[in-house]
Amino acid sequence: MAFEGLSDRLQETIKKIKGKGKVTEQDVKEMTREVRLALLEADVNFKVVKDFVKRVRERAVGQEVMESLTPGQQVIKVVKEELTDLMGGDESKIAVAKRPPTVIMMVGLQGAGKTTTTGKLANLLRKSYNRKPLLAAADIYRPAAIQQLQTLGKQLDMPVHEEGTDVDPVDIATNAVAKAKEEHHDYVLIDTAGRLHVDGELMGELQRIKEAVNPDEIFLVVDAMTGQDAVTVAESFDEQLDVSGVLLTKLDGDTRGGAALSIKAVTGKPIKFAGMGEKLDQLETFHPERMASRILG
Ligand code: GDP
Repeated sequence: MAFEGLSDRLQETIKKIKGKGKVTEQDVKEMTREVRLALLEADVNFKVVKDFVKRVRERAVGQEVMESLTPGQQVIKVVKEELTDLMGGDESKIAVAKRPPTVIMMVGLQGAGKTTTTGKLANLLRKSYNRKPLLAAADIYRPAAIQQLQTLGKQLDMPVHEEGTDVDPVDIATNAVAKAKEEHHDYVLIDTAGRLHVDGELMGELQRIKEAVNPDEIFLVVDAMTGQDAVTVAESFDEQLDVSGVLLTKLDGDTRGGAALSIKAVTGKPIKFAGMGEKLDQLETFHPERMASRILG
């Protein structure tokens, strides 16, 4: 389960303070020390942990807690609120263009789950929002990527725009948007090329696609299981492309939670959806508050 390790540690820590009729500064200090260790062990970014613990400590020794009739529970409330804030506060919505189609560019490193997530997102848009997406295959470097998207299209019974591997991805993306307009699709999801590492050539191409189609959303797909690497990847994609949101995959296998808890604080960009398995219906809207509740039990 997602965050299992972190969740166990934090629950053990807050259990100790929960029933206390009186909470001293010493209690708070001990609790935040344990929270700090639990977060570091979960591979949360060092600076993020430091700021988080500072905020919890300040609030937990403040009036709202100390003068409360149930200070133990108040402390837990503070931790939960701060954890929610850390993951993005209010959940964020997906854009809707004033004039359709809404253009979504999907970017990310190879293996992160970009193509699968493109299919999952299209599925979710249709199922939950009653939308009619067009998929576009703009990864021309791996013929298998086009095939993969076509297979997904078949599974979902959804059209895929592709022009093989000899056409400039910028043109493919532009043509896909034109086609979506013509054929009355309200969303177009462009699956772009990935590489094993962030490189200048890839970023240049993504920037050219961005300029050409002026997307309403640029969703960065990152693999939760890669922890702080995912955060570093998010930082560099964001610097180059100014992404609008992060889609975190493989959360189902992530027992630690370091990426989920660091990405918003480090990049300022919210996690919008989370992949919870390989199947096409296993993409969930990311709800920071629900996630915080899940972690704290
Ligand atoms: P791409 O290279 O970024 O396009 O990655 P793919 O879409 O081909 O996905 C790489 C692998 O990750 C595939 O085996 C997917 O089934 C798997 N995958 C993607 N998302 C998830 C997820 O949320 N959970 C799990 N368990 N596997 C996932």
